[in-house]
Amino acid sequence: MTKKNPNALAPDHWIWSKFDELNAQHFRGQLEPPQEILRLQSTTWAALTVNTMANGTPCRLIWLDGEALDTDPSVAADSLLHEMVHYELAAQANGDGDQTHGTRFVVRADEIGRSLGLPSCCLPGFTAEQHLQIARIWPKVQRQAVQITSAK
Ligand SMILES: [Zn+2]
Repeated sequence: MTKKNPNALAPDHWIWSKFDELNAQHFRGQLEPPQEILRLQSTTWAALTVNTMANGTPCRLIWLDGEALDTDPSVAADSLLHEMVHYELAAQANGDGDQTHGTRFVVRADEIGRSLGLPSCCLPGFTAEQHLQIARIWPKVQRQAVQITSAK
């Protein structure tokens, strides 16, 4: 019997319904649920990791900022959506766990962003390097930009 990771979120945690909701909304429900969604301790980062299990199948894990999970569900949900884009791209690339924010990521993020009324990662007047920085924190930074603009 495999030992459960103590940081794994329980099957009845709200994040799992959020995964299903975002999957249906943006990925036509085609993403297989990851093996685990886990809580990261004392960090603001989120991540997708892909390992190959002994039987050869990929083991995909989504890690989310533990503090956001407890105190700011909308930030945790945005982090989840970000990782789900990596997840989809990783699945298309046969599970290479691609964590980059290159063209493939930006195209997909912007497609989802448009449906949410969010600005593109490629804001005019910014360099390619800055677009990459923006993509790295998509969609949180786009939401903040919309809030700032609408507060004017
Ligand atoms: Zn990322």
